[in-house]
Amino acid sequence: MTTIRTRFAPSPTGFMHVGGVRTALFAWLIAQKNNGTFILRIEDTDKAREVDGSIAQIEKSLHWLGIDWTEGITVGGPYAPYLQSERLDIYKQWAQKLVDNGRAYADPYSQTELEEFRNAAVANNKAFLYRDHRPENPPVWDGTQPLRFKSDPKSCKWTDAVMGELSTGPEAIDDFILIKSDGYPTYNFCHIIDDMLMQITHVLRSQEFISSTPKFLNLYEALGIERPILATLPYVMAIDGKKKLGKRDGAKDILEYDTDGYLPEAMMNFLATLGWNDGTEQEIFTPSELIEKFSLDRVQKSPARFDEKRLLWLNGQWIRKLSLDDLFERCTIFWPESAKSIGNSAKKQILMLVQDRLKTLAELPMMTSYFFEEPTPNWSMVTENNQLGKMSRDEIVSLLNSAKTALSESNFDAESLQNTLNSLLETTGQKPGILFSLIRLAVSWAPFSPALNETLSALGNDRVQSRLQSAIETASN
Ligand code: GLU
Repeated sequence: MTTIRTRFAPSPTGFMHVGGVRTALFAWLIAQKNNGTFILRIEDTDKAREVDGSIAQIEKSLHWLGIDWTEGITVGGPYAPYLQSERLDIYKQWAQKLVDNGRAYADPYSQTELEEFRNAAVANNKAFLYRDHRPENPPVWDGTQPLRFKSDPKSCKWTDAVMGELSTGPEAIDDFILIKSDGYPTYNFCHIIDDMLMQITHVLRSQEFISSTPKFLNLYEALGIERPILATLPYVMAIDGKKKLGKRDGAKDILEYDTDGYLPEAMMNFLATLGWNDGTEQEIFTPSELIEKFSLDRVQKSPARFDEKRLLWLNGQWIRKLSLDDLFERCTIFWPESAKSIGNSAKKQILMLVQDRLKTLAELPMMTSYFFEEPTPNWSMVTENNQLGKMSRDEIVSLLNSAKTALSESNFDAESLQNTLNSLLETTGQKPGILFSLIRLAVSWAPFSPALNETLSALGNDRVQSRLQSAIETASN
């Protein structure tokens, strides 16, 4: 049986965003599922587009997500090197084979001549095809001219593992450049050589390459090699579904999500379900469930939409799933400054209270700082509250006073506090939506807090008394 070998072959042209990482993930999942090998190859043949530091950034992004490679850049392997710029001799040898077989020729034209051909085609309302201008006696290729593929234009039919049956007419095939005049190969050429030499069985890549596929198929034929399985992943679109996800719509560096307090498990879950589902309603998938369930035939053909709210929801779900100790470890850098001197067990206790409400780890200061430092009363939070906003200051002061007195008599474990709060509802005749919201605001001045009795218990009697007192003063001023 053939071993499944998939690869991720990014160009080092900047940070990795959602679309790119999803391609890596799908290729990795196929390899994992089949006990195959996942390879990381770097396609750095377009020197003009290269951005310093991108390779490290790519590796870091994959490491963060847990997409590991056992062959490729940094780790090496039987088909090294895995950096295309270190493989130029290999491409030259294969290019020479094509020259020798009469399937490649040196391009003798200047930029101006090419421009003229193109303009003439446009003027005649025709698509420009280089092969319409194939030179009769091309010069001997000495490496200073671009080397072009002598294509065999014809209609083309193929099966894409995601998109299904596809076909094009001969116009999709042209004499494309194999080696540029700077000595570097084009993507169109070298990825085919590498996929062949590296024994890649499945090529997964984004939809932007689909229009070039007939050219690739023509080259496979000319080289006499069997092509791998081709799987085209639909675009990731902005949330409105109208355009490809761009920087303005949230296509940011995947590592920013780490800084923003997202869990890699949630991101992997999110990416996997961008255009794939297992045919059930299941939404939360662990990495091992994904490995078990993933298959190309359930990847949808239509573009996926990037819904950052869903990612946030998934992240909250994943935060809830973690054990307290695991969550605590991941929170290290996210605690507010004021928690620095607080002991671990006290912090863990607070963390346990907010775990179910945290959507990102970066929300930790907003959710917990009032446990570690005195909050500043912000009266607009009262006036902007739907129900409290309708009450007079006198009514509020009187409610706060009743709460202060009743709570001063509680022994501050969560259960007694709940009893105190319940009887307070009866004595004041208020609804929980009013009474509890008011107490919550008065002790925390935060938009959310855990269950009120637990919040009060964690704060302790003294702090609750003094915060209620300062709320009364704020309300009276
Ligand atoms: N180097 C190409 C890119 O970064 C990869 C396409 C492929 O996977 O073949 O877009």
